Amino acid sequence: MTSPVLPSESDAAVLEAVATGIPAALSDLGHLVRISGMAWPAFDQTQLERSAEAVAALAKDTGVFDDVRVLRAAIPGTDEQGQPAVLATRAARNGKPTILLYAHHDVQPPGDDALWETPPFEPTVRDGRLYGRGAADDKAGIMAHIGSIRAVREVLGDDLDLGIALFIEGEEEYGSRSFATFLSDNKDALRADAIVVADSGNWDSVTPGLTVSLRGNARFTMCVRTLDHASHSGMFGGAVPDAMMATVTLLSTLWNADGSVAVAGMTARDAATPEYTEETLRDEAGLLPGTTPIGDGTILSRIWNKPAVTVIGIDATSVSAASNTLLPEVTVVISARVAPGQTGREAYEALEAHLRAHAPFGAELSFSDVDLGDGFLVDTSGWAVSLTRDAMRDGYGVPPVDLGVGGSIPFIADLVREFPEAQILVTGVEDPHSRAHSPNESLHLDTFRHAVATEALMLARMNGMNL
Ligand SMILES: [Zn+2]
Repeated sequence: MTSPVLPSESDAAVLEAVATGIPAALSDLGHLVRISGMAWPAFDQTQLERSAEAVAALAKDTGVFDDVRVLRAAIPGTDEQGQPAVLATRAARNGKPTILLYAHHDVQPPGDDALWETPPFEPTVRDGRLYGRGAADDKAGIMAHIGSIRAVREVLGDDLDLGIALFIEGEEEYGSRSFATFLSDNKDALRADAIVVADSGNWDSVTPGLTVSLRGNARFTMCVRTLDHASHSGMFGGAVPDAMMATVTLLSTLWNADGSVAVAGMTARDAATPEYTEETLRDEAGLLPGTTPIGDGTILSRIWNKPAVTVIGIDATSVSAASNTLLPEVTVVISARVAPGQTGREAYEALEAHLRAHAPFGAELSFSDVDLGDGFLVDTSGWAVSLTRDAMRDGYGVPPVDLGVGGSIPFIADLVREFPEAQILVTGVEDPHSRAHSPNESLHLDTFRHAVATEALMLARMNGMNL
């Protein structure tokens, strides 16, 4: 493999083509934002089809693809098909690498329209940001791909030998239920040397971030039983344990006094984190003045590299229906974030073992609805990571920060399983103020310009190398 050496005048030509193409890219982005494609069955599914067709048309118009299709794949364990995805491909020529560009065209529901300052599906520019549902997550990811392809085609013309697969999913916000089938159905078309997943964030609106770790998740339902029927609390209270007492006592064993996770077998990852102050945490998370943060170690290590356990639901008597009764049964939903490096399965097994070992008063426990997702650690030793970091530095004019993410992108595990040789690059167009999934979602226009420039440099430089 030769290292990608590109004359700086080529860089300049690519950056100029990107800059010239930004108004068109933003206009196309606005057009996509107007299409309210959501994968939830409660919403008009023809919008999702329109959205897929609009993306397919943009892909065709680039003129670089041999084949552009809108496809669906089966959802395992059902007789249903997943939502429409766009797959566009061109084969590599003359020994050049192939890159797979991923984004998704479905969006989160808008939530309460009254909380939006301008209508969610009406793209609006204010103060250097484009507002609208999907303006950032992840229609800007689609336009970063399209905009960068347009720029390199313009500059390289017939010298564009890079293989490109563009895969724009239609159900990311709805659990990517047909994703694994889609990968296996289209394995040859999707095979690539590097995969860009443009669905994450940046350190801030001017500093790029390469996401190098993601936490996994383990979510399950636990039912705690102590009695075979409810009783008057005055009759037996003090002599028999009710299920609420057992549940509260049991749940409290999940955390140490400082709020860190106390479950043996849930691991943490040891890695350096950038500076992030308690003041910033207070501001971004909305901590009340007298409330203290929890956990130990640097703040970002708690969010990126350590586990977290949260009780996210509880079924017991409601406050309005409260009576002096000993409850026989309480059901809770527990959601754990799993440190990168540990599988969701291992973390779940540690949690279940901990809960069984600590069940007070011989309470009966049963577990159900277990949902697991693996975290991810990027192997940063490959050529594609160095190439991406350099392109970020040159595209933003600022060196990138390695980011961890406290949330999950579970489908990355599917990509790794299906394409173990591919290098995975998790990039994105969001910044900390993008409010993805919330009202008033927005895209910082400068971040978008820099993200398109970065990706165009990546494509041009990969086109300049031989594997
Ligand atoms: Zn997304």
